[in-house]
Amino acid sequence: MKAVAVYPRTREVKLIDAPEPRLASPTDVRLRMLEVGICGTDKELCTFKYGTPPAGTDHLVIGHESLGEVVEVGSAVSRVKVGDLVVTMVRRPCEHEDCLACRAGRQDFCYSGDYTERGIKERHGFMTESVVDDERYMNVVPRALRDVGVLVEPLTIAEKALAQIRQVQQRLPWACPITPGKSGGSCHRAVVLGAGPVGLLGAMALAANGFDTYVYSRGGADSPRGGVVRDIGATFVGAESVTVDALPGKIGAIDVVYEATGASTLAFDVLAGLGTNGVFVFTGVPGRRAPVEIDTDLLMRNLVLKNQVVLGSVNASRPDFEAAIADLAVFRERWPRALAALLTGRFPIDAYAGQLLNAPADAIKNVIALS
Ligand code: BGC
Repeated sequence: MKAVAVYPRTREVKLIDAPEPRLASPTDVRLRMLEVGICGTDKELCTFKYGTPPAGTDHLVIGHESLGEVVEVGSAVSRVKVGDLVVTMVRRPCEHEDCLACRAGRQDFCYSGDYTERGIKERHGFMTESVVDDERYMNVVPRALRDVGVLVEPLTIAEKALAQIRQVQQRLPWACPITPGKSGGSCHRAVVLGAGPVGLLGAMALAANGFDTYVYSRGGADSPRGGVVRDIGATFVGAESVTVDALPGKIGAIDVVYEATGASTLAFDVLAGLGTNGVFVFTGVPGRRAPVEIDTDLLMRNLVLKNQVVLGSVNASRPDFEAAIADLAVFRERWPRALAALLTGRFPIDAYAGQLLNAPADAIKNVIALS
């Protein structure tokens, strides 16, 4: 079967002929892959800065944003059945007895660092025709979400961030007064940094959860990305016309920042403008560039005197996948045009090189369609 793989030692990205996987345990499930999204991590894997093949092999099959259809189930499988659509989780637990997180099924918080990730770290991924995995890593997606289900995994980034924000803010009076017709966070203002797929899905999750949402990004409000922001009732703030310093003055006190650019200098500049009791969530993974100067006194004074919290968030667990599946249905209901606009292209697996190596700049989320 066809698969896209990176060969870090020889620095090659190739379409290979991989062996068909077979069920190896009674709780295994075989999937026919339908769609696999392409993200920044995949492009990094293709520049060999990141990613590790499974032990004993020279290559790694990439792909971790997936949608598959169940075609075969082991004798003890009870969570999924043939014909179900599923999104498979990415991270697998480490084996250390003393890793509290992995032992509790929260490998997204693995202490040891010896977790594995499908398509990224020591396990083959999903950019191939057929996949086998344990049912415990699979999440069923309703048929009605067939055309957007591939967005579940990138949306889990925002869902985990939201869950973290809610937990952190239990430290203070945070619940908004009930306003008829408005939901939960309507008295809070959130800024999303970046209008890529993670940023736009984050904006949708924040807006759907009632935040007054602003997306700060390069590019015009009249671009396709700006159109998505407008359609969901959020506000696009162009980085070319509003400086970071001017941002709080322009929009008001910032309660939440959801960072989705991986641009560290921009992020720390925005952190300096975070409001009282604010939470700043980092989700991007920057490359290593030269150090830059930042005003640490200002940041530290603000963190203390304004009770701020800064947190990083990686990977996601089952509740985040379930929240993403539920929210996708909400987005489909409320903003069908904006949701559809995120998926800018579907390509056959043979077109992998054009998508991974020379990715078109205007694409939001392009996917490899396998069947
Ligand atoms: C994936 C996560 C993964 C992270 C780091 C992201 O692109 O969505 O599942 O944990 O990369 O490898």
